[in-house]
Amino acid sequence: MGDERSEREYWDDIMGSQQGIFGNDAPSVAGNSAMTEFANARAVPTPEGLAISLQCERDGRPQTVVAEYPELIAIKYGISPHIAYGQAVAQGHKIPYLNGPATQWGYDPNMKRWFPNAACRCGAPIQPRISVAEAESALRAAQAAPWIEVAIVTQLSNFCAKMAGR
Ligand SMILES: [Zn+2]
Repeated sequence: MGDERSEREYWDDIMGSQQGIFGNDAPSVAGNSAMTEFANARAVPTPEGLAISLQCERDGRPQTVVAEYPELIAIKYGISPHIAYGQAVAQGHKIPYLNGPATQWGYDPNMKRWFPNAACRCGAPIQPRISVAEAESALRAAQAAPWIEVAIVTQLSNFCAKMAGR
């Protein structure tokens, strides 16, 4: 999980660079995003991960939560990213493309979606729901860009599949 970035400038940078990479044929997950319960939520694949921007429901502050690609791989295999990588990170292993501490994620069994346990500065929860289909779509876009190496995606996928089988 990257840092939450709430500055509008940062978001504009992402949108600007995004245009150059994907153009009009963008394999964006924004169009089919099912995160409709969050007003104005947008999900865009970036080099750092799937950037989800939304507004705090309490005070309206713009928020950006970045779900990093290793986290999306764990979600794809139905396991919490924290459970998948937490032990390895605690033992000092470096997980490729995973920056910062392993974030706690939750699972909403009714919606069948995962969410990061993030929060706004005011304390209100920022927990955009991510479906497995959205995680897969973002991973495909990242490999096509290419922002992540297929070999490493395969390695992390095998790791998560093994862990999910336990
Ligand atoms: Zn807030």
